[in-house]
Amino acid sequence: MNSYDKHYYDGAWQASTGTDAVDVISSATEESVARVPRGTGEDVDRAVKAARRAFESWSRTPVEERAQWLEKLSAAAKERSAQMAEAISHEVGTALGFSTKVQAEFPIMMIGMNAKFIREVSFEQELGNSLVIKEPVGVVGCITPWNYPLHQVVCKIAPALAAGCTVVVKPAEMAPLSAFMLAEAAHQIGLPKGVLNIVSGPGRVVGEALVSHPDVDMMSFTGSLAAGRRIASVAGEGIKKVCLELGGKSAFIVLDDAPFDKAIPAGVNNCMQNSGQTCSAWTRMIVPRARHDEAVELAKAQFAKLTMGNPFDKATRLGPLASAGQRDTVLGFIEQGKKEGATLVAGGGRPADLPTGFYVEPTIFANVDNRMAIAQEEIFGPVLAVIPYDSEAEAVRIANDSPYGLAGGVWGGTPEGALAVARQMRTGQVDINGGRFNTLAPFGGYKKSGIGREIGPLALEEFFQLKSIQR
Ligand code: NAD
Repeated sequence: MNSYDKHYYDGAWQASTGTDAVDVISSATEESVARVPRGTGEDVDRAVKAARRAFESWSRTPVEERAQWLEKLSAAAKERSAQMAEAISHEVGTALGFSTKVQAEFPIMMIGMNAKFIREVSFEQELGNSLVIKEPVGVVGCITPWNYPLHQVVCKIAPALAAGCTVVVKPAEMAPLSAFMLAEAAHQIGLPKGVLNIVSGPGRVVGEALVSHPDVDMMSFTGSLAAGRRIASVAGEGIKKVCLELGGKSAFIVLDDAPFDKAIPAGVNNCMQNSGQTCSAWTRMIVPRARHDEAVELAKAQFAKLTMGNPFDKATRLGPLASAGQRDTVLGFIEQGKKEGATLVAGGGRPADLPTGFYVEPTIFANVDNRMAIAQEEIFGPVLAVIPYDSEAEAVRIANDSPYGLAGGVWGGTPEGALAVARQMRTGQVDINGGRFNTLAPFGGYKKSGIGREIGPLALEEFFQLKSIQR
């Protein structure tokens, strides 16, 4: 893969004021595949100042022109789609087929979709004697995680730019390459300077410099609860708007009258997507006690179909985890699950035939009590907890007994039955009876899963502020 030795801001590739670089490690070979600069607070300051200068004209650029820039950016990113997918498969371990479609093509398409969304916004409203106007928030700092690295960047920059904001992005240290490729695409199309800026480096240095910078008006963050808490408090000092997309521990409720042969494999596939490194993964499968063992057998059968291996092999469904740290965290949770008395029915360690790479076997725990750590904490790996319930009301109670509320699922014998349960779940998204992911639907969390929404036309609202003019 190409290395990068410069940040991108003010419309040009800029030498870092720091001297160090960060290695990008392949999760399958454990070797360095590229390097990016380890930025400094000084780099952030320069990038933010460029974004602030650019805001003056970008915020006044006609909506139609901004929409056309997004379409051009999407087209230029598309030329790099294969390269982006390959980079993400190295960085995150995502199987290449999934990387191509979900990690690269999907977010590239979403850039273009935001052009359509912004064209449909009505910017002015009469309310009594007031004219209420939507205006862009200003300079937005964007900090993103490694699990869907391009997607997370796009979820922030596309609506922000469409709304008339300028952005400074700090991509995840572990998976920064697709953000640099996006900067190349922006440079190729001649996006006005300072509109999109990228500075790489550690969260504590580059990230915090961004959050605390007085010229940043809003922080849009996706990542862990711990970092989100820190970012919200630093942003709070500066009275900055925050949008936080944090962790999840989502529940999938299988009702007694559900077709188990469809529901259980769908639940397993959802949980195992990207080797479990998905914030919205249904990691708790809540099943009727009388049918618990049947559900576990069906889950085991589906697990057996998920071939684990090198992300670049065609047969691979599950790749390695993104880092040694991630692997060790997941193995630690598996040990904790065993100690707490959950029944280990599949997986449980490192696969013997894959000694190199950050692999962890897909793992099922049965008879899990929802108070156990493996049911309360976000593991972020291929670990499914099957939890029995005695009544529908108890199923809902278990699903809601979580600090998080990001996503979830219900499968029932009828759409009405599933919908009635979905309405009772305190979570930002629920898919019922196999409902598909919708690129128009707002995505985001209740409770400690965050504040604000991304994706679809409603995500634009995060990047506006309202002005009332009385007359
Ligand atoms: P992380 O919180 O460790 O890091 C995320 C980003 O924040 C990185 O770029 C990191 O450098 C930066 N960062 C860390 N500490 C910081 C600080 N003090 N100040 C400023 N920046 C800081 O998360 P991760 O391990 O990269 O990603 C996994 C987490 O992301 C999981 O919890 C997952 O659920 C969550 N996630 C949430 C969503 C969502 O939409 N809700 C989507 C994807 C991932």
